[in-house]
Amino acid sequence: MDEIDVVIFEQPEEDLDRMRFIIRNTIPAFVNALRRIMIAEVPTLAIEDVIFLENTTPLQDEFIAHRLGLIPISTDLSILNFKEECSCEGAGCPQCTVSLTLEAETTEDESMVVYSGDLNSTDPLLAPVHDKIPIIKMSPGQRLILEAIAQLGTGKEHAKWQPVSTASYQYMPSIEIQPRKTEPEIAEACPRGVLMYNEDSETIDVVNLYDCNLCMECVKAAEKADDPDVIRVDSSPHNIIMTVEPTGALPADEIVFEAANILKERASTFIEALKEAITKKEEVKQ
Ligand code: SF4
Ligand SMILES: [Zn+2]
Repeated sequence: MDEIDVVIFEQPEEDLDRMRFIIRNTIPAFVNALRRIMIAEVPTLAIEDVIFLENTTPLQDEFIAHRLGLIPISTDLSILNFKEECSCEGAGCPQCTVSLTLEAETTEDESMVVYSGDLNSTDPLLAPVHDKIPIIKMSPGQRLILEAIAQLGTGKEHAKWQPVSTASYQYMPSIEIQPRKTEPEIAEACPRGVLMYNEDSETIDVVNLYDCNLCMECVKAAEKADDPDVIRVDSSPHNIIMTVEPTGALPADEIVFEAANILKERASTFIEALKEAITKKEEVKQ
């Protein structure tokens, strides 16, 4: 097989944007390993501990803490350590934790919604990604004062640490269309806008190949229209389209890089373990 090659066809402009790319000359097992690492092992920040100083709202502390935990927090992996691996030995320090405080109070004649944007972080670069995630609706005369501590974690511990809402892949489609007059129903059958009927030439064009999900509705429509050979849809397991939709905690390209590095480290560890096992075997032989 030729060398692996990557083509990005949907480049994220902002941290929240999804990234779509083709991995050429690969196999599904490799892409799936990458996908699983993105979901379960690339770390992000999420709120883990909440200290309630005052809560006179009807919602229990546990409910509020759970909601806070699910708020995506922008993460800088270059400056943060896992709490258990930090030089503070798990006590919590600015290198492994981020403190976010919230102070909300309603007067006797007002009610209000407290949003994620009301959390004040000690580091403005490590703060909630979105400002408008509702946390609680407060009725008149209530107070909520708390300190939330965010720390690094991974999706295999809890989904709140997942850096992606979606990481998926599909085989790269190839669509072959005969350049002859045919029925518009074939293009109209496509639910993804991949095909377009050209009224002038009465032929079908492929306008959006990467959105094809290989559903075969167009092939069925061609058979129904008594023109089964006009379109051929195929796919290759060696060329794979990957879609990465980040939660915003980390940009999509960084998530892919981190996942690839984790996979590389694992392969290096395996090589070392294998070398050691071979050496031991040879020693036993002698
Ligand atoms: S296989 Fe499905 S998505 Fe792809 S072109 Fe045909 S109808 Fe559209
Ligand atoms: Zn620390």
